[in-house]
Amino acid sequence: MTSRPDRADPRTLSELSLAVHGGNRLDSTKALRTPLVMANSYALPADPSEISWSATTGGLYTRNTGVNQAALQDKLAALEGGEDAVALASGVAALHAVFFTHVRVGDHVVVSDVTYEATWRLWTELLPGRYGIEATFVDIGDHDAVRAAMRPETKLVCIEAIANPTNSVADVRAIADIAHAAGAILLVDSTYTPPPFYRPLADGADLVVHSLTKYINGHGDAMGGAVVGSHALIEPIKADAMVDVGGVISPFNAWQIQRGSVTLPLRLRQHLASAQEIAEFLEADPRIAFIAYPGLRSHPDHELAARQFGGRGFGAMIAFAVDGDPDAQNRFVANLSLITSGFSLGHDDSLIVHTGTEGGRVATYPEPFRRYGHLRLSVGLEDTADLIRDLAAALDDTFGPVGSQVGSQVAGHVDGCAGQLP
Ligand SMILES: *Cc1c(COP(=O)(O)O)cnc(C)c1O
Repeated sequence: MTSRPDRADPRTLSELSLAVHGGNRLDSTKALRTPLVMANSYALPADPSEISWSATTGGLYTRNTGVNQAALQDKLAALEGGEDAVALASGVAALHAVFFTHVRVGDHVVVSDVTYEATWRLWTELLPGRYGIEATFVDIGDHDAVRAAMRPETKLVCIEAIANPTNSVADVRAIADIAHAAGAILLVDSTYTPPPFYRPLADGADLVVHSLTKYINGHGDAMGGAVVGSHALIEPIKADAMVDVGGVISPFNAWQIQRGSVTLPLRLRQHLASAQEIAEFLEADPRIAFIAYPGLRSHPDHELAARQFGGRGFGAMIAFAVDGDPDAQNRFVANLSLITSGFSLGHDDSLIVHTGTEGGRVATYPEPFRRYGHLRLSVGLEDTADLIRDLAAALDDTFGPVGSQVGSQVAGHVDGCAGQLP
């Protein structure tokens, strides 16, 4: 298998071309698409000395890597500007693969206090309890607190560029400097901020994790995860977490995700532009209790996000609540018709989830999130005006048209919450 020379050289391609050509390979069939190879095993060389059971390259067994996984890995490395990548069965498998490989008994990690649910559970319950690895949770926006949390045995700092679900933004360059000064590596879960919108490696991150399930596949029909970084950090993840623990991606999912990723830069343009417009619409509506979206001037991290993301956008995830109690959130969601209530994000269809006011991580969220629960809206690829019409109609159905409300509930908002986070 050879990739097409020159045309597929990542150093010479702009982002749209890279998304089209990156990772494509010609095999003996000369098919212009990487063929889907649904094989568990490959013909072994006649000479047994050439066989390594723990090899992380192709031509052996699909848990050691297959044609489609390798092609996807090449493409992801090119898109993120990394040396190497490993593709695994899910985003969570990718996170676990990093923790399993690069942190051991007696080590310490520093984790953002707002982080994806599974990361939270891994570091509050599973890994400390079972493996004795200590985690300190810090407000990643408080750089003195991050610095103070670092210890001689700190191996890893784990953050999200835009945090799921509160939309706080991490200063990746600043956190990378703090981590490196203490001899630790920085892992950025960049699921909310896929390339070419953002590339954390260029800001000093050592490892980037993606849930490929989300924007990179983009069509809501395949799960996968990936870690991108230097060869020195990725190769042990392949050897330990992929070959020996076995969270390998299926060839079909790798093929499907490679196909989906072809349109990633084009899709992102629409996701990002649409989300900005929708956030502005929601913020201006008096029936909204609060909204957290980094593209709004009212967001505390707006300036940082504008600088870090270079004006390309502010993500396509909007966190907000409508006025009223948690039940009002449910009624509002039930009144939506184009936007669907469902888990996941980054799909072509817009998805919304209501997170309640109880349990798990909610206690760590900023005040308005705790008071209302919140709605997490993943802005999809439908026409922006259609989405705004759906939101407006659901607001009318839930509260009546603007101006018709009697009493204080809608008129008053909650002090200090409308349009901003404390
Ligand atoms: C969805 C998600 C994950 C987990 O990905 P899966 O593919 O569902 O395992 C990890 N991090 C973030 C930020 C996510 O949104």
